[in-house]
Amino acid sequence: MITVLRIGHRPERDKRITTHVALTARAFGANEVLVDTPDRELEVNFESTCQRWGGDVKLRTGVNWRQALKEFKGQIVHLTMYGETLDKAMVQIKPFGDIMIVVGAEKVPREVYERASINVGVGNQPHSEVAALGVFLHTLFDGKMPDYDDGQMKILPNPRGKTVESK
Ligand code: SAM
Repeated sequence: MITVLRIGHRPERDKRITTHVALTARAFGANEVLVDTPDRELEVNFESTCQRWGGDVKLRTGVNWRQALKEFKGQIVHLTMYGETLDKAMVQIKPFGDIMIVVGAEKVPREVYERASINVGVGNQPHSEVAALGVFLHTLFDGKMPDYDDGQMKILPNPRGKTVESK
């Protein structure tokens, strides 16, 4: 079970980027997305994506991040440009059991660095929570991505155009 915890979400400023965090989590194989600030619109839009394109991925907002970190029993991986290199971190992260991946928005509270089982940098340059999450999940799953079959629509790969199957 892979949970992505997105902290510092500001609905008025981060709608698009938090949506992209959630879509990336889903597309790259996470099972659940938790967002700290309540945002009903985000929940509704994400549920609609899952209905159309498949995947039983849950998104909840208004989650108390401190409590979520305290109660989580598996490994907590905090993605930050200050963290351990991805190569070294992957040796330490167990490829079984539950993992919670934490991504921030602006400044992340010190407590998150301390609660994390490991702080991981996807490179040690500033970039984006979306990029960091995608690369981390892609590495964790050795490049395998889920192929959702339970949606109303499915894309059939086409090198020269768009083919979409409706069910
Ligand atoms: N100073 C922040 C930091 O600690 O990474 C950069 C803020 S960045 C706009 C928002 C989020 O993107 C961060 O909280 C972190 O989760 C993620 N992020 C940015 N660059 C990263 C990197 N090189 N490695 C891992 N995560 C990164």
